[in-house]
Amino acid sequence: MSNKYFISGGTLDDGNKKNIFISDGKISGFENPPNSGAQIIDATGKIILPGLVDLHTHLREPGKEDSETVLSASRAAAKGGFTALSAMPNTSPVADTAGVVEQVLRLGVEAGLCDVFPIGAVTKNLQGSELSEIGAMADSAAAVRIFSDDGHCVSNPAVMRRALEYVKKFDGVIAQHAQDPDLTVNAQMNEGVVSSVLGLKGWPAVAEEAIIARDVLLTEHVQSRLHVCHVTTAGGVEIIRWAKARGINVTAEVTPHHLLLTDDLAASYDPVYKVNPPLRTEKDVHALREALAEGIIDIVATDHAPHPAENKECEWQEAAFGMLGLETALSIIALTMVETKLLDWKGVAERFSRSPARIGRYAHQGGELNVGEMANLTLIDPAASWRVDRNLVASRSRNTPFHGMELPGVITETFFRGVPTLRNAELVQQLNSENSR
Ligand SMILES: [Zn+2]
Repeated sequence: MSNKYFISGGTLDDGNKKNIFISDGKISGFENPPNSGAQIIDATGKIILPGLVDLHTHLREPGKEDSETVLSASRAAAKGGFTALSAMPNTSPVADTAGVVEQVLRLGVEAGLCDVFPIGAVTKNLQGSELSEIGAMADSAAAVRIFSDDGHCVSNPAVMRRALEYVKKFDGVIAQHAQDPDLTVNAQMNEGVVSSVLGLKGWPAVAEEAIIARDVLLTEHVQSRLHVCHVTTAGGVEIIRWAKARGINVTAEVTPHHLLLTDDLAASYDPVYKVNPPLRTEKDVHALREALAEGIIDIVATDHAPHPAENKECEWQEAAFGMLGLETALSIIALTMVETKLLDWKGVAERFSRSPARIGRYAHQGGELNVGEMANLTLIDPAASWRVDRNLVASRSRNTPFHGMELPGVITETFFRGVPTLRNAELVQQLNSENSR
């Protein structure tokens, strides 16, 4: 089959109407050469974005393949318009050695539907005390640049300082899950009016904000680079604003669910709304949207966290933290940021593709749509809508809080290295991507 494609009549994220001719995996021009034999893709009315890049994905493999595999997450990624995922290291075994990150890298290449960039653990077995093999992971075939104990906070300030110092050697970054463990012992949801009414142990905003404040100061002190995972509070935004104004090298992310959902949903006692960090208040949601629009929060990241039914369809107290994110992310951003006119599509492309690729130092991702660039592209029909059905997801898990919702924006095509992984909103079946593995 021809590896040439001609995308006609689409609008680029910058608002310019342009055709795109793809050959040999690259954008090779803006018109269809005579007798090219290219397959034609009608993009009339569609927006063409650089392929989405997620800096925060739980792929669960190795060790928790009943929840998700690198392959099933890659399929969910293709449906969600992603051409790159970043694999959080809280697998079993933990990705704290060169061997494990190289295994995850290899699984990503085998799946072949997007780039899978492994994130390395900051500390051995995520225990917070001893640094993992950071240098060996950076030098490995996976060339890891992002390190995180996500799911856990690097709470010891001396360990955090050493980690920040260590990654400077190779232009790495520490991605912190900001959660003071002593302030959140057995915490179940946002601390506030709703938690007291429901009688669930509260998770105060200050548990997140105190760590962000400490870490930006440590980052300034050792002149390193910090990335704050999933910011959820208005206070956290203010600290990051202050740090950026001071010239501290900090970036931050927000999840789609924290831009839409609020803590009062916990009143259903449905653990589909149980997530770490927790859903906050309307005031926080408003501040997060404004901060993303303004660029104080740099990027959107999914924190895609698949869990099997037995860990989510149970008592709130016993349920696991986390929600699916990959397949709904762009539609939630269309709903919360584009339809509200807080961002245009160029702004979306910056925050969901170009900036995450820059933060991760990911080559061939988040490019300008120019001749010679790798053809990693996402096509979305902004005027169309779809209904989320948890029984139709590509993920192995079903824990989406958006089940039944009608969302704007249908992703019709995803191109990874010049080849469609999604076409007419359907996954392209490939030899190596059969359902069962
Ligand atoms: Zn986290």
